Amino acid sequence: MSLWEYIILFGSVALGGSLALIFPIKTRKTLQLVLSFSGAYILGIIVLHLMPSVFGGSQAQTAGLWVLGGFLAQIILEQLSAGLEHGHIHAPHKITVGFVVSVLLGLSVHAFIEGMPLSYYQSYLDSHTHMHHSHHSHYLIGIILHHIPAAFALANLLLLSKMAKKWVWCCLLLFSAMSPLGALLAGSLSISSEFQTGILAFAMGSLLHIATVILFEMDASSHMHLSVKRLAAILLGIGAALLTML
Ligand SMILES: [Zn+2]
Ligand SMILES: [Zn+2]
Repeated sequence: MSLWEYIILFGSVALGGSLALIFPIKTRKTLQLVLSFSGAYILGIIVLHLMPSVFGGSQAQTAGLWVLGGFLAQIILEQLSAGLEHGHIHAPHKITVGFVVSVLLGLSVHAFIEGMPLSYYQSYLDSHTHMHHSHHSHYLIGIILHHIPAAFALANLLLLSKMAKKWVWCCLLLFSAMSPLGALLAGSLSISSEFQTGILAFAMGSLLHIATVILFEMDASSHMHLSVKRLAAILLGIGAALLTML
């Protein structure tokens, strides 16, 4: 991963969080649309790129186990993080220090694991699929897209907990740093090709959970009613994912 990709990954997530500190109300509605877009986009990336590359090789069966592992791990992590990974807050009424720590832990572990494949994704896709692109940035984009609303939700939650702003910034920086750190760690180790498939399949399982939850929970309040804006965001998300096939 190049330096500018690290900077974009770190900066965009930090930006998402700082929006909550600067323009809390204005941003919320827009970010809900970004979230719908990201759910559809991630689903598209999973079925169009991740599934073919992970299941296309000789390790298709073990890859399936890794996907299930990632899906289950995400269910558990969302118990810790109160659903922040998919941009929602399913928080208790009383926000305690223990709750904040558990949220940060769940969110950080998730972002770290998801960041790991970034270090080898480019070369991995070149060797595991027949689609030769000059550059595969869709996985990076998928991460950024759902981490901006997640950082926003995190900052909101921390402000609700009456945490001092400087500490909110510290938590945001911690969350922003996790995916780049995961990529740095994976990049510094020499990971076997089998394990590369495993980690990517695991991250895919967790993304599959997040994308489906985003699309499923999108309109929990108004009973399956889908607004025109949301539908447009979903269609745009799928369209953007399809564009990566070109
Ligand atoms: Zn939710
Ligand atoms: Zn994520």
